[in-house]
Amino acid sequence: MTPISHNIGILGAGQLGRMLAMAGYPLGQRFGFYGDAPDAPAARLGHLFAHDQVDTLDRLTAWADVITYESENTDLAQIQAIEAAGVPVYPGAASLYNSQHRGREKALFNELGIPTAPWRVVTSLAELRQAVADIGVPSILKTTTEGYDGKGQFRLNAISDVDVAWRAVGEREAILEGFVTFKRELSMVAVRGREGEMAFYPLVENHHHEGILRLTLAPAEGISPDVRQAAQRYVRDLMGRLNHVGVLTLELFETEKGLVANEMAPRVHNSGHWTMEGALTSQFENHIRAITGLPLGSTQPVTPWCAMINIIGDTGPVAEVLRLSGVHLHLYDKAPRAGRKLGHINVVARSRTERNKLLQALQGFVPDGLIGKIA
Ligand code: AMP
Repeated sequence: MTPISHNIGILGAGQLGRMLAMAGYPLGQRFGFYGDAPDAPAARLGHLFAHDQVDTLDRLTAWADVITYESENTDLAQIQAIEAAGVPVYPGAASLYNSQHRGREKALFNELGIPTAPWRVVTSLAELRQAVADIGVPSILKTTTEGYDGKGQFRLNAISDVDVAWRAVGEREAILEGFVTFKRELSMVAVRGREGEMAFYPLVENHHHEGILRLTLAPAEGISPDVRQAAQRYVRDLMGRLNHVGVLTLELFETEKGLVANEMAPRVHNSGHWTMEGALTSQFENHIRAITGLPLGSTQPVTPWCAMINIIGDTGPVAEVLRLSGVHLHLYDKAPRAGRKLGHINVVARSRTERNKLLQALQGFVPDGLIGKIA
């Protein structure tokens, strides 16, 4: 019998670590975090294995029954060292290695028959010139590593933008992608257990502003069975190929010709935060279940009218949110700063009309006009 309680080590102590721990405590799990700031969102939720001592990772590894991580920017060498020490670390090195480099990620997508924009990795201005000649404009140049929330990206509208684009990404290895004309942005969060069992959350619809996710509608409306099956097939093949354990998220563009994959994340995802109250089992609980070898929980939404709004930069009149019924506030205990994710608001409504009313009541949290387009 698998023991139920585990010492779970999390590399990182941000909001994802915080929400993983909050989901794991009711299941009797214990948490320790490998982090650097005593005031990080998760730092007070378990033992903090502070970065500043040389043997900290060893001490975390000695304490933990299983280790996971919050970010695809986690150092691969750390994951390999933990694996070599014989402590299970999930997702494994293959998941991390393939998702922390946009070129490797796209190559894997294509190998598995998952459609992408045309793309080319470039390491010099001359290579970029050639890639732009081949792929054309408009196109997007992105750093191959460490880009998130639209950072490290430049849109080329003309061939003459090549020099400025190359400077904009810091004259370093980058990927040029053809610009995808999409109807909307979707994502699928899914989970795979230690024995290879899988569960899929429904596709959701995501709205970004300046590269940052602001609003998720869950489940996405108007998804045909073909589109749903295609997305599940892509995620199933990815998780199977990577022998992935835990949650994985695939971001997709919905186009006239079907789905085009953008990127994957080997972790719980902002577009899955709605599952905290909106699904029978949250993405956080399912990640904990998966990495500890416990049975996966149902990914079914509790209603077809869920939504999630990010609180970015400052919290605004946040206490007012608590007056609304069907609305759930989550704050990460972070100091306000422009562009920073400070929390989110989940909406669980009984009808489209009710959801739209709640979104309208919350429109102060979203950039101008976004709610008007939807609700
Ligand atoms: P990413 O960091 O790759 O998720 O990109 C951030 C945002 O830029 C995406 O959510 C899209 O809105 C947009 N974007 C990224 N890549 C493309 C592309 N190839 N074509 C069109 N839009 C894109």
